[in-house]
Amino acid sequence: MSPQRRSGLGTNQEAIRRHNLGTVLRHVHGAGQTSRAELTSLMGLNRSTIAGLVSELESLGIAEHATPLEGSRQGAGRPSARVRIAREGPYVIAVDLGVDRAVVARVGLGGHVIQRAQAPVLRDGEAWQVGAAVATLIRTVIEGAPSAAPLVGIGISVPGLVRRSDGLIRLAPNLEWHDVSFGGIVLAALGLDVPVSLANDADLGALAEHTRGAGVGVDELIYVSGNVGVGAGVISGGHRLEGVGGYAGEVGHLRFNPDGRPCHCGNLGCWETEVGAFAIAEAIQCPPDKVAQLDEVLDEFDRPSTALRATGTSLGQGLASIVNMFNPQVVVLGGYFRSLYRLVGADVDAGLADRALPAPLESVRLELPGLGSDSPLHGAAEIALEPLFVDPVAALGTALVDVRARLAG
Ligand SMILES: [Zn+2]
Repeated sequence: MSPQRRSGLGTNQEAIRRHNLGTVLRHVHGAGQTSRAELTSLMGLNRSTIAGLVSELESLGIAEHATPLEGSRQGAGRPSARVRIAREGPYVIAVDLGVDRAVVARVGLGGHVIQRAQAPVLRDGEAWQVGAAVATLIRTVIEGAPSAAPLVGIGISVPGLVRRSDGLIRLAPNLEWHDVSFGGIVLAALGLDVPVSLANDADLGALAEHTRGAGVGVDELIYVSGNVGVGAGVISGGHRLEGVGGYAGEVGHLRFNPDGRPCHCGNLGCWETEVGAFAIAEAIQCPPDKVAQLDEVLDEFDRPSTALRATGTSLGQGLASIVNMFNPQVVVLGGYFRSLYRLVGADVDAGLADRALPAPLESVRLELPGLGSDSPLHGAAEIALEPLFVDPVAALGTALVDVRARLAG
């Protein structure tokens, strides 16, 4: 370690304390409720340090005392003091921007969805029109927020490629958007100045399923999102795999059938053209105007056609390439793949077994999302909450209170 670095540590006690404060909060957020004794053993800090951090979170209005659980005594002593997320504490706005509808929610720590609203989105809508519609939904969910509760930020899930450095939407093919600063558009429509974070929907699905869905405790997880487009979010070693620009996981454009259909990306026979929403719709002869409700249409089927079973086989075969590449423990099937898997799961499994290498196949299991269709929404909340886990004091310093009074329009 360089001498400079050592002296830096000595002068950074406050930064370390805030980091520990954020880590305590991250544990309480993940568990919903925990005890000081559990925090002490998780973090390897002594009891008085943990007690100090917990009381600071309490004085910041983020955490509060909870009643000790029966039987939670430490030996013969008193039961360990419990801590939980404060009921009227900080919140974020999560936005799941779909191709045909937007869902907006007010979400507290612990992933608690307090209020939600949704509205259709015009397929050929301009970004400013969609931004105005999203702003209206945000006003609706902020309506019931206590005026003293701080708004930490806004997180937005996007069906497209999002630049990691600044959240610019480089491409949302099914909205026909190129280089759209959607975060700025929403903030301008609201007349608010709060941090806004954007990320790809499959990446956020992976994050949410890892944090509080089907993959809690699983550090090698892939969430494959089947919507109009097909993409994947990868958790590797417990962290999101983003790539240098933030565009990793575009598995929908793996070449699958060299003699196949043209894809919007300019290539022929991408996996997305074989298993995406339009391919599924064609297999079940669903009219194109019903594609937005494909999951409901699929849920009405009880016996799959040969064409639909072939789509299931293609899904499994494509998943095999992903399993061979990343060696995941869990693959979560999101979007329309949830309904598809219920119908043709045996064909998906067979396609996967047919093409995957035996070694990575041994350890992988396919799962449906623990959060249903809300994984990207929860992921959007997670990225908006993230500043609180890095430095709660700084995040609350830039958070807005009395938000309703500040809203434009
Ligand atoms: Zn393509």
